[in-house]
Amino acid sequence: MGPTLKSVFEQTAQKFPEKVGIVDERIGVRWTYRQWEEEVNRYAHTLQAYGVEKGDVVSTVLFNTSEFLTTLFACTKLGAVFNPINFRLTEKEISFILQDAEPKIVLYEKATAQQVEPVVPDMSDTVFCSIDHGERHLYDVLSENRAGIEVPLDEEDTYAIMYTSGTTGNPKGVVHSHRDMVDQAMAMALTMQLTPSDKGLSIGPMFHCAELHCAIFPRILVGAGNAVLHHYDPKETIRLIKEEGITTMFGAPTMWHMMIQEDFTKEEISTLRQGLYGGAPMPPSLTKELHNTLGIGLVQAYGMTEMGPAITVQMEEDQIPKAGSAGKPLVNQEVRIIRAEGEESGSPDDICEAGELGEIIVRGPSMMKGYYKRPEATEKVIRDGWYYSGDIGMMDEDGFLWVRDRVKDMIISGGENIYSREVEDALNDHPAVEDAAVVGEPDVKWGEQVVAFIVKRGDVTAEEIDEFLLSGNRLSRYKRPRRYEFVEELPRNASGKLQKFKLREKATNVK
Ligand code: ATP
Repeated sequence: MGPTLKSVFEQTAQKFPEKVGIVDERIGVRWTYRQWEEEVNRYAHTLQAYGVEKGDVVSTVLFNTSEFLTTLFACTKLGAVFNPINFRLTEKEISFILQDAEPKIVLYEKATAQQVEPVVPDMSDTVFCSIDHGERHLYDVLSENRAGIEVPLDEEDTYAIMYTSGTTGNPKGVVHSHRDMVDQAMAMALTMQLTPSDKGLSIGPMFHCAELHCAIFPRILVGAGNAVLHHYDPKETIRLIKEEGITTMFGAPTMWHMMIQEDFTKEEISTLRQGLYGGAPMPPSLTKELHNTLGIGLVQAYGMTEMGPAITVQMEEDQIPKAGSAGKPLVNQEVRIIRAEGEESGSPDDICEAGELGEIIVRGPSMMKGYYKRPEATEKVIRDGWYYSGDIGMMDEDGFLWVRDRVKDMIISGGENIYSREVEDALNDHPAVEDAAVVGEPDVKWGEQVVAFIVKRGDVTAEEIDEFLLSGNRLSRYKRPRRYEFVEELPRNASGKLQKFKLREKATNVK
């Protein structure tokens, strides 16, 4: 019986009882680890009073709040399964997830009532509790019992069901065990060289595994401090870094981008020693801009919910020389590039040469147990002990991974494969391009043609961008967009990922 998230949290509380573990300014929380553990116990007793037992699912539709984490650790005390849901999803998506997960209780923020409440009449066995500060249904009846709860827990027990962001279809519940998470937290704590004197700020959405598993759990494992920002706001982020003496922070590429548009000095954020980014590709031009503007140690993580998520990391020293790559495998992950792509792809032993593109497959201890209630879907992606990522990439001569595209986003024009990331990186190099995305649209002659969606930062025409791509061998002629559309912003989900399906719909509609 190995460590669990419960034992990790309890050990930290024992080692660092007087250290501030969690700060949530918005609701006046500034608890030491000892106080936090007592609150976790109170929440656990409260959930128990609602009938939550080992194996029951507890769903949350919460913004970033200490209550999210306190509920999560309360679940670990009971052996209950935590199910954090993206607060930006539509009513239809949330109702799909809730009916799939069948939780015993749902805790949701009042602001999400319109998305959550329509499903209430269909789920008579589930308790729905809204949390609104000032009108707190669950916490009105918060138990006064601060004593621990001893429910037997094994490292193989399920810790959470996390639904994938659904950029490629209906969300699927990814089931992770406690062991997956402890492994991932240890590897990330080591990589980020976290210590008890670190203080982290959560600006990325906590329902997403990048923030939760790559930033928060590793900090708790080493006894570092945690502060939460309710929803992302670049000005508030800078203020909190300064006031709380934040040393480490994760952000999706778009969050870092927004932050450096603000007016601030390096002195104001002088405590920040490192910044983790990932979850979506960051254009090399932005990596360089961040590197110069912030002057902090940047680390990139690449991965997917199914793998915990992190599988490779790109360390500070490689940010500029290898800008655009996703780095090297994390200490406990194995990565291969194999020939053939997608569901029909081949053997894990048919390994590509350095520089040859193929499907990225991975194995390691933080791999999911499988998809909730979907054994066929699990069998499709986990084969011979490897997780088939559906991402296309290559390893270079130095062992660095380069993620090129998702199999589903690759554009095939005139029989040639065009990887959207390569075109997007070239577009982002133009000084007047703020953000860019490309998708394929059906074309009678070529099968598909490339359409670019551009957010401008200055005055620029499609012809000028086209000339720029052609100059200096930036992009082969056949990879150039055939059509440009200028838009106000690109559709992204809460974790900063491009929602290409929306762009594809748009591309087809305007034709
Ligand atoms: P769905 O599978 O339903 O579409 P999702 O895949 O968007 O959901 P995640 O697990 O959050 O949900 O996303 C994983 C994907 O994000 C990876 O497969 C990869 O394509 C992309 N990604 C993550 N990190 C990086 C990174 N550092 N660089 C490039 N792409 C990344």
